Amino acid sequence: MNLVILGAPGSGKGTQAKLLADHFGLTHISSGALLREESQKDTPQGKIIKQILDSGDLVSFDLVLQSIQSKLNPDTGFVLDGTPRDLEQARQLELLLTKRGIVIDKVIFLELSDDISLERLLKRAKTEGRSDDNEATINERLQVYHQQTEPLIQYYKNQNKLLSIDGRPDIDTIFQDILKHIG
Ligand code: AMP
Repeated sequence: MNLVILGAPGSGKGTQAKLLADHFGLTHISSGALLREESQKDTPQGKIIKQILDSGDLVSFDLVLQSIQSKLNPDTGFVLDGTPRDLEQARQLELLLTKRGIVIDKVIFLELSDDISLERLLKRAKTEGRSDDNEATINERLQVYHQQTEPLIQYYKNQNKLLSIDGRPDIDTIFQDILKHIG
């Protein structure tokens, strides 16, 4: 099974992706985590990525693909968390997957209002210390999400792959809700 998890920053994508990966034995591929790892490196590319992450904008998809490509193994399914981020990425991803005979089975969309996203991210800023979890960057990330990522909801709805899940309840309730639909 190959899944994509979609939602605003703070909607719980990473948490649910991890739970799904453990439950179904899938590879969890988080483009954000891979980019954060890359951004820690003292290389010209690492520095460029860090700057973009801290601004809240999207990193060039070529750089994202470099990081995620090696993890796309057709023999074990995956949960793709944080990619695609816009329609162009969705199309490029589809081309790449098709070439490898891989199909996305479901796209899980975690629905959450900006107010709750903001509240959760500010809380996370105190515990996890991610450099992009500050109010200015969070606002930019939410704006990027609405402008660039949100159109993917309709895109995957048209493909009959979208599963909309209420992102407000606690972690386990959300997870059980997802399982009820895809289990
Ligand atoms: P996330 O951990 O998914 O919230 O992503 C954190 C940051 O990583 C985003 O704000 C972007 O700057 C970058 N990022 C993650 N995934 C992508 C992607 N597919 N394309 C471009 N930038 C990405």
